[in-house]
Amino acid sequence: MRSISKQNKICIFIVIILIFFLPFSGFGMNDDTGNTLILLGNETLPPIVYNDNGIAKGVAVDIANAIGDRIGYEVKVVTVNWEQAQKMVLDGDADGLLHINPCPERNEIYDFSSPLLKSDFSMFVQSDNRTLRSIDDLRGKSVGIEAGGYPNTLLQGYETIDIEIINDWEASFKALSNGDLDAIIMDRWIGEYELANSRISDIKIVDPPIETQYSRIAVRKGNLETLALINSGLKEITEDGTINKIMEQWQGKRVIYVTEDYFQTFYLRSASLILLLVALIAIYFVSKYRKLSKKLEISVKKRTEELHHANEMLKAANLKLERISMIDGLTSIENRRAFDIAYNRAWKMCLRERMPLALIMIDIDNFKIFNDTYGHLSGDQTLIKIAEVIKGIAKRPGDLAARYGGEEFVVLLMNTTAEGAIIIAEKIRRKIEELEIENREIKSVITVSLGVASAVPEKEMVPNELIDAADKALYKAKKEGRNKVIVWEYHQK
Ligand code: GH3
Ligand code: MG
Ligand code: MG
Repeated sequence: MRSISKQNKICIFIVIILIFFLPFSGFGMNDDTGNTLILLGNETLPPIVYNDNGIAKGVAVDIANAIGDRIGYEVKVVTVNWEQAQKMVLDGDADGLLHINPCPERNEIYDFSSPLLKSDFSMFVQSDNRTLRSIDDLRGKSVGIEAGGYPNTLLQGYETIDIEIINDWEASFKALSNGDLDAIIMDRWIGEYELANSRISDIKIVDPPIETQYSRIAVRKGNLETLALINSGLKEITEDGTINKIMEQWQGKRVIYVTEDYFQTFYLRSASLILLLVALIAIYFVSKYRKLSKKLEISVKKRTEELHHANEMLKAANLKLERISMIDGLTSIENRRAFDIAYNRAWKMCLRERMPLALIMIDIDNFKIFNDTYGHLSGDQTLIKIAEVIKGIAKRPGDLAARYGGEEFVVLLMNTTAEGAIIIAEKIRRKIEELEIENREIKSVITVSLGVASAVPEKEMVPNELIDAADKALYKAKKEGRNKVIVWEYHQK
C-alpha cells in the first residue's frame, strides 16, 4: 500500500477544515449580527402594523419582509409603543421605523425612505355633526390623536384645541360616540378598520381628508447606508409589482366601514330609485290602461253605433214586414188582418166617443162565371180595378177599404151613420158598373152587391154584431137581384 504523500495530507486537512467550518462561516446565509434589519412598528395600527399575540402583523410588515428578501436581509419587525419606538431608533437600538410620516421636526432627526403607504389623515366625528368640517372648526373642541403620530404635527399651532392622547382606539371611538370627544384625527384606513371591528356606527368620516401623506421607513439621521439598502429593496418591490400584490391582499381583507351618512345616502338613493322605478312602471301601466280603455271606448262606441244602426234597420224591416203583412198581395189595398185590427180599434173608439160606426160589405156578382169565361188572370185584373175604385171612394181619414177575402171587400167608415154609408155604397156600386167590364156569359157588365150596417157601439154589444148585420144586408142584396145596396137596420132581426 502506498503511503499518503505530504502534499495529499495537506489537501485532506484543508477539506476537513472546510467541511467542518463552512456551515458556521456565514457564507451563503444570513446571520443575526450582519444581515438582520430591525424595524420598529406601532403596535396599535391595524391593519397596517400591529401586535397580534406577540407577532408583528400588517401590510407594512409584509412589505418590510419583501424588502428584506430582495436585499438579502432578514427583517425583524418589532411592535412597540410608538413614542418609545422613535426613541429607540434614535438611541441606535433598532435600524428603522416602519410606517412613519415625515414632518419638519422628524426631518431634523431621521432620514426617510421612498414612499411606502398612502395615508389619508381624516377627521372622524359624530354622524349628525354638520359643523366640524376642517381643522379650523376644531378650535375649543376636544380632539383625540395618537401619541407621537402625524396628526400631532397637523394640529401644531392650534393652541385652543384640547388634544386628548389616545391609547385605545375602541375606547376613544366610544368617547366620540357619547360626546366625550368632539373629533378624532387619524389614518382613514386604520379608523375604518377599527370602527368596523368595534361595530360603532354613529360615527362618520369627514370628506375630504385633512391631509394625504405617504408613510415611509425612517432611519436615524445620517444612517444613509441602511437607507440606501432599504430604498433599493423598496424600489425593486415597487417596480416588479410585489408591493401592489401585498396591497391587494390587504385591500381584500380591508373591512370597509360604511358611515351612517353613507347609509342614509345609499338608502335614500335606493329608495328614490325604487320609487322612480315604481312610478315609471305605474305610469307605463296607467298609460297602457288609458290607451286600452280609450281603444275600448272607441270600439264600444262603434259597436253601439253599429247596434243602433242595426236596430234601426231591424225596426224599419219590421215596419216594412208589418206593412206587408197588412197589405193584400194582389190588390195592394189593406187585407183582412189590417181590417180586423182597424175595426177593433174603431169599435173601441166609437164606443168611447159615442160615434156611429158603419160597414159596407161588397161582393162581386157572378164572378165565378167571369172567371170561367175569361180565365183567372182576367179575374185578378178585375179584382185590382174594383179595389182601386173602392179605395178611391173610401178615402176620408178614418175610412178603410180592405179586401175581405176572395172577391169580397169591406169598407170601414168612422163616425158615419147608415145614411152616409148608403151614399158611399151607392157611389161604389155605380162607379164599378161604370167600369163596364163585360161579363159576356150573362150579357152584362161586372157589378157588385153591397150590404150596409151602421151603429153606435154599446157596451153590451159585441163587435161582430155589426159585421153580421152588414153580411146579412149583402145576402139580402144578392137575394133581391144583385147590383144593389141594402142597408141592414141594426136592431132588426
Ligand atoms: P154571386 O153573385 O152569388 O156572388 O156569384 P159568384 O159567382 O160571385 O159566387 P161566389 O161569390 O160564391 O163565387 C166567388 C168566386 O170568386 C169563386 C172564385 O172563382 C172567385 N174568386 C175568389 N177569389 C178570387 C181571386 O182571387 N181571383 C179570381 N180570379 N177569382 C176569385
Ligand atoms: Mg163571394
Ligand atoms: Mg160573388
